[in-house]
Amino acid sequence: MRFSRLLVPTTKETPNDATLASHIFLIRGGFIQSVGGSGLYNFLPLGKKVLDRVRGVVKEELDNAGCQEVSLSFVTPASLWEESGRYEKYGKELLRFKDRKDNEFVLGPTHEEMMVNLVRQSVKSYKQLPLNLYQINLKFRDEIRPRFGLMRGREFLMKDGYSFHTDEADMKREFNLMEETYKKIFTRLGLEFRVVEADSGAIGGSGSKEFMVLADSGEDTIVVCDGCDYGANIEAAVRQEKQCDAPAPQLGSEKVHTPDASTMEELASFFNVDPFYLVKTVAMRALYDEGKSQIVLFALRGSDELQEVKACNAVDANELVEVSEEELEAAGLVPGFMAPFDTPKEVRVVVDTTLKGATHLICGANEKGYHTTGNTIEGDFAYHDIVAVQEGDACAKCGGTLRYTKGIEAGHIFQLGTRYSEPLGCTFLDENGKAKPMVMGTYGIGVSRLLAAIIEQHHDEKGCIWTKESAPFDLYIMVSNIKDEAQLALGEEVYEALQSAGIDVLFDDRKDRFGAKMKDYELIGIPHAVIIGKKLSDGLVEFVTREGMVKEEVPSEEIVSFIRERLC
Ligand code: ATP
Ligand code: MG
Repeated sequence: MRFSRLLVPTTKETPNDATLASHIFLIRGGFIQSVGGSGLYNFLPLGKKVLDRVRGVVKEELDNAGCQEVSLSFVTPASLWEESGRYEKYGKELLRFKDRKDNEFVLGPTHEEMMVNLVRQSVKSYKQLPLNLYQINLKFRDEIRPRFGLMRGREFLMKDGYSFHTDEADMKREFNLMEETYKKIFTRLGLEFRVVEADSGAIGGSGSKEFMVLADSGEDTIVVCDGCDYGANIEAAVRQEKQCDAPAPQLGSEKVHTPDASTMEELASFFNVDPFYLVKTVAMRALYDEGKSQIVLFALRGSDELQEVKACNAVDANELVEVSEEELEAAGLVPGFMAPFDTPKEVRVVVDTTLKGATHLICGANEKGYHTTGNTIEGDFAYHDIVAVQEGDACAKCGGTLRYTKGIEAGHIFQLGTRYSEPLGCTFLDENGKAKPMVMGTYGIGVSRLLAAIIEQHHDEKGCIWTKESAPFDLYIMVSNIKDEAQLALGEEVYEALQSAGIDVLFDDRKDRFGAKMKDYELIGIPHAVIIGKKLSDGLVEFVTREGMVKEEVPSEEIVSFIRERLC
């Protein structure tokens, strides 16, 4: 491709809303263009090339693993979402609309219902299973805060795959195969990543893993172990049960006047105890379908923090939101002095698992200005793991030290079971002619998000540094001075020779100054370049590696073979 013919509107301007390197460089490098600044983007020629290359790697590895590509309608009938029960549950991210005949539709944010519908119409017998079908298509989610460019768009490209099996064991085999396949994909794309245990969220099912591209700018906090390969999203992370060296308060069962102590710190210093022996009671409002909601008290140790996703799952809610002091008082609670005991009937209580059987506890007295001591938690509470693992906690697997790191979720694989096949009646006849629901797995990759993830990991202050398999071109050739006949002639010759050798070359034949062309090269970030400049009179050209801007001088007559050797 000749640069002079290519639409690459590079710019020095940093977009107002851009803070991440990937967002800035993808816009400045002319890869993508914002449409109204609301999570919608156009892909320009360079961006489309990268997208197609990434998509190609994903497709190749999935096809090798025996998956089959299909393409489903982006517009999906609301009736399917009603069948699965997600029409309400999915909340405001789901874009619902009507056609001229008043039929209701949803712009697909994920396609479980659609794929199950495809399979239930075409698969009847165990002989047709297993099956792994995928597509690489647009998704739409009306994200509450679209941001960071391609990282969190409203319209984005996803690879979504779904597998169908006769039993759980076969689904698990496929799940493991997908984990291996995803590892190959992310490795080929040149990414440093970690596979971590994940929360299964609203989609349902159990057993899920996320593929996290490690980057400081990542939106996800992941917990990793220094001693072994344990890794988990903070939303799903577990730890070895915490012990406390400080002595337990030897106080009897009493009500104590604590007028100025309502926070954990104030309380710990008032009683001179470790916060481990305090009960923290966090009130939240849990939201359910059809506008229903309920106040929930989450009780945990004063030394722990509530993990909201775990808490939300514990009460099977769509969402947890803050609740005001007025609302708490109206419900008969005493903010600042709440306890998980003797609560009003309509208030639900969830207790952290580590408090089960705990003694010598201090907690609110359900009375303003008072706490009670010498409490024991026993009996039939709803016990759930609702705490956030903290840095320094001990690994449940090996006892090593856990720490936090940041990641970008690039892929997610799920063991779904019969969460969708059952309600949607996606059954098969087994060897005995008995109808059974298919057992499913589901597998996603954020294909457009991957472009941002690659740049987050691979850039410098000047621009992008694409990895080998994601680069828009394999090589960039620059003729420094287009008026110099010898330079131009060599450029043309090398360009032709390499193109016919199957190397995808961007040939910069523009009249611009050397400095301007160099800036564009650095911004666009093609992995290698050949610079044909003044030294050609000494028979030399320059070979540049974008990573580190390493320069090597090569005799001009050897440049074609040199490049073939380096790049092929
Ligand atoms: P997140 O927690 O980042 O919102 P998710 O859990 O909603 O992601 P999935 O429903 O598992 O994501 O979707 C599969 C993949 O699609 C994700 O792993 C991610 O890479 C990508 N993805 C999800 N939402 C977006 C978005 N708004 N923009 C770009 N890619 C996205
Ligand atoms: Mg999401």
